[in-house]
Parts: sequence; structure tokens; C-alpha cells
Amino acid sequence: MLIAPQNLALRVKELRLRMRAAAEAAGRDPGSVTLVAVSKSHNAEAIREAATAGVTDFGESYLNEALPKMQRLADLPLCWHFIGAIQSNKTRAIAERFAWAHGIDRPGIARRLSEQRPFHAPPLDVCIQVALVPEPGKGGVTAGGLPELAAQVAGMPRLRLRGLMCIPPPQPGTAAQRAMFARLRGLLSELNAAGHSLDTLSMGMSADFEAAIAEGATLVRVGTALFGERR
Ligand SMILES: *Cc1c(COP(=O)(O)O)cnc(C)c1O
Repeated sequence: MLIAPQNLALRVKELRLRMRAAAEAAGRDPGSVTLVAVSKSHNAEAIREAATAGVTDFGESYLNEALPKMQRLADLPLCWHFIGAIQSNKTRAIAERFAWAHGIDRPGIARRLSEQRPFHAPPLDVCIQVALVPEPGKGGVTAGGLPELAAQVAGMPRLRLRGLMCIPPPQPGTAAQRAMFARLRGLLSELNAAGHSLDTLSMGMSADFEAAIAEGATLVRVGTALFGERR
């Protein structure tokens, strides 16, 4: 779908209003929730329009698609988040070009990212992806495997473990959505009680970001509600 620039500005405004309302309903500071605009399948011009409307953080899932767009937008001070599954042959470019990686679910990938992060850059901010409901073929560490992986990642010199990320399967209603996100929040609290100092819950997409904000999301990853259907 082609979105006229003024419509995109309007969508950004509407989305921010919904985010603000969700935060205020939960007694939270609206400024504590960052919007990551998921721009996969949308072109550099759409991203530029969103940036003009004040969006600073963008999420991409496919490296080969993301790199040319990032190149074309290199004049803008954008913060890029890699939110897709990470294959080992893609770690170098992710370590070199992105500020965040959200899909960490095994130590080997984390180790490569740490080793390949350029010395002139700050440490790569990372989230561990948790499979709240283990689904074959989908990424994420199980809750049982989380403490060990968190300990390993936290010890990697060129990574900064910021928190947890999840992509729960679609839920039938708000209460069920919230129950999923509450579990991720609980896992973050357990890690912090065990000595970590994690500040990020990367959870909530177009269909469920309000439930995620109600449960403490600090970063929502929204694509369709902003850019329209993906091609
Ligand atoms: C595509 C994607 C999103 C955005 O999904 P929408 O439903 O379009 O908002 C968020 N997170 C991840 C990891 C994604 O791959």
C-alpha cells in the first residue's frame, strides 16, 4: 500500500496518542516507552517520511533488505534495530551497522556479535529473545534456559545486555495478551533479582502493543499500524 506523506505523519501522531493513552492508563510515564517503527518491506522514502514525523528508531528483520535502505538514509541520525532471526553469516554486518539486536537466543551468535563489534562503536545493545510458548522453527530461548544464556551474554565485552524480547503467538483477547507479557516482565524481574541490571522489555506489535505497555514494555515494535500492510 502506498501511503501519502501527510497520511504517514497522521499515523505517527495517532500511534503516539494510543501509546500515550496506554501508558497513562497504566500509571506510567509515556516517555518511558520507545517506538521502534518496523520498516521491513517498506522503502527508504517511507522511512524518511516517518523520520520527518519525528520517529528516530527503526526495526528491520532482513539484512539484505535493510542495508541498501540504511545506506540511502545515512544522512539521517537514525537508530537501527535488528529484530529478525540472526544467522551466523550475518553477524558481522549486524555488529557493524546496527545499534541494537533483539533476537539473541544462543551463545554462539552473541559471541560472534561481540567479537565483530567495531572498537570505535559503543557496545551493541542486545535483548535475549524468549520463547514464552515454544513453537517449532521460531526463535527464542526457553524460560528454563534463560538464566544461563543471560549470564553468558552479560559477560561478553562488546555487548550490553539490556533486556528481553518476545513474539508471543496471537492471543484471543487483551487479558490473554497481558498474561503473556506479564510472564516476560516476571522473567526480567527474576534476572534483576539475581544481579543483572536490565532496563528493557521489547514487547508489543501492531495487534498487542497496548497490552504490552500495560505490562511494562519499554520498547514496542510496530510495523503495520504505522506503514500499512506489508508487500
Ligand atoms: C514484523 C515484526 C514486527 C512488526 O509487526 P506488525 O504486526 O506489523 O506491527 C515486530 N517485531 C518483529 C520481530 C517483527 O518481525
